[in-house]
Amino acid sequence: MKKIKVLFLASEADPFIKIGGLGDVAGSLPNALLDLGDEIDVRLIIPLHKQIIPETFGITHYSTFVTDLGGKKQSVDVFKTNKKNLEVFFLSGEPISDKEKVYDSNIELDGEKYIFFDLAALEFIKRDEWQPSIVMANDWHTAIALHAIKQRQSDPFWRSVKTVITIHNLCYMGAGTEAILERFGISKVNTDKIPWWGKHVPLPMGILAADKIVTVSPTYSKEIQTAEYGCGLEEYFQYRAEDVVGIVNGIDQDIWDPEKDQAIPQTFSISEIDNKKVNKQYLQELFHLAPKPSVPLLAMVTRMDQQKGVDTLLEAIELISSEKYQMIILGTGNPEIEEKCKLLEEKYPEQVRAIIKYDGKLSRQIYAGADMILMPSRYEPCGIAQMISMRYGSVPIVRATGGLKDTVTEERTGFLFEHINAGELAASIIKALRTYKKKDLWKRMQTNCMDENFSWQNSAEKYKNLFESLV
Ligand code: ADP
Repeated sequence: MKKIKVLFLASEADPFIKIGGLGDVAGSLPNALLDLGDEIDVRLIIPLHKQIIPETFGITHYSTFVTDLGGKKQSVDVFKTNKKNLEVFFLSGEPISDKEKVYDSNIELDGEKYIFFDLAALEFIKRDEWQPSIVMANDWHTAIALHAIKQRQSDPFWRSVKTVITIHNLCYMGAGTEAILERFGISKVNTDKIPWWGKHVPLPMGILAADKIVTVSPTYSKEIQTAEYGCGLEEYFQYRAEDVVGIVNGIDQDIWDPEKDQAIPQTFSISEIDNKKVNKQYLQELFHLAPKPSVPLLAMVTRMDQQKGVDTLLEAIELISSEKYQMIILGTGNPEIEEKCKLLEEKYPEQVRAIIKYDGKLSRQIYAGADMILMPSRYEPCGIAQMISMRYGSVPIVRATGGLKDTVTEERTGFLFEHINAGELAASIIKALRTYKKKDLWKRMQTNCMDENFSWQNSAEKYKNLFESLV
C-alpha cells in the first residue's frame, strides 16, 4: 500500500513552544501517527518563533530560498530537528523573526506572520519535493495554507493533495487580517455558502477549502452546527455535516503519570491509590488549610477566561456555604475574574485559596492532591484538564458540553451538570460531596478514572482512518 504522507502545519508545538492546548496536540499527535506503523509518514512545520532557542532542541539550518511573497522578494530560512522519528521543520523570514510574541493582541502582526508562514510552508515543501497526500492545518493561523492549495489546482504537485482542518477553538478566526491577505495577493472568496463577513477571514476560508473539518471532540462537532456554538458558521457546518468529524484529543500518558511524576510529593498508582492522601496533606499544609483528611478538597486549574465559567463557580460557592469542603483555585488571565477569586478567599479564609499565577509544577501537585477538579465551562472544544485529573485519581465535576461530555461519565468517572448556572453547578458539587462520604463508592470512582485510556494512540488511529478515507 502507498504511504500516506501527512504535512502537519501548526502555530505551536510542545516542547519547542507551547501556549495552549494546540501546543499539546501538535506536540503529540504527529509522533502518535508515526507510531502507528510504516503506512504513514509525517512532517511537522511550525514558525521559528523568537522564543524558540535552537540550541536547546538541536535545531540546525536546513536550507534557504528566496521567493515572491506579499508583492516582494522574501528570503525564507528553513531549520530542522528530529523529535524521536519525526522530522520537524521551522520556518523563518522577516515577517516571523521581527515579531515579539507567538500571538499578539495586534491581529495585523499575527496576520503578517502566519500568512507568510502558510505560503512559505507550501513553497518549501514543493521545493523539497516532499509531496504530501494530506495537509492538516490547525486553527486560523494555518488555515490559509488550505485555501492556497485549492487555488493551486492547475499545479500537478498540489492537484491530488487532500486537506483537513482541525478546529481547536472556533471563536478565533483571524478577522482583521483582510489588508494583509490582500497584500499577499489573496482575495476574498466568491461564494454564497458562508456569511459575507467570513469571505476574507482566514478560518472560514480554510474551512471552505478543507476536504474534512475536524473538531477536537464528537460533541463539539455537533455543537458547532447550532447557533449557540457555531460563531455564525453553523449553517455552513450543517451543510457540510457529512464532512464534519469529531476526534477527541489524547494526553501524553508519559508526561502525565502519577507513578513517575517528579513534581508531586508522593507518587501513586491505581493499586496503591491510598498513597494519594499524602499529596492532599501536602496541599493542605502548603496553603494553611485545616489538615483534615476527611474534608473534601476541590480544585480548579484554569485560564481565567469567560469560557471557563469561574464566575459561575464563585456564585455556586455562595450556595454551598453550609457544606464542609476546601477549595484551591489556580489560574491567571482576566484581571476582573482574578480579583473576584481573591475576594472569595478573603470571604472564606478557612476554606478557599486563590493562587493567581501560571505554575506547571503546582498544577501537578493539585491534580495529585485534590479529591475533585471543577470545570464548569461555557464551551469546551475538548479540554485536557479533566483527562489529567482523572489520570491522577481526582474526580471531575464538569459542565456537560463538548469534550467534557465525551470524556466524563456521570457517577462512573465524574459528575456532570447541563446548564451553565450556579444552582446546577452547586447541586452537582453537593452530589459529589455526598458521594465522597461513601468511601467504597468513591474509591471505585477514582479507580474508574485512573483506568480510563486517554492515550494518543486511540485518537491517532481515528485520524489515520480519516486520512485513509480521503486518499
Ligand atoms: P485550554 O486549552 O482551553 O486552556 P485545557 O483544559 O484544554 O484548556 O488545557 C489547559 C491546560 O493548561 C491544562 O494542562 C492545565 O493544567 C493548564 N493550565 C491552565 N492554567 C494553568 C495555570 N494557572 N498553571 C498551570 N497550568 C495551567
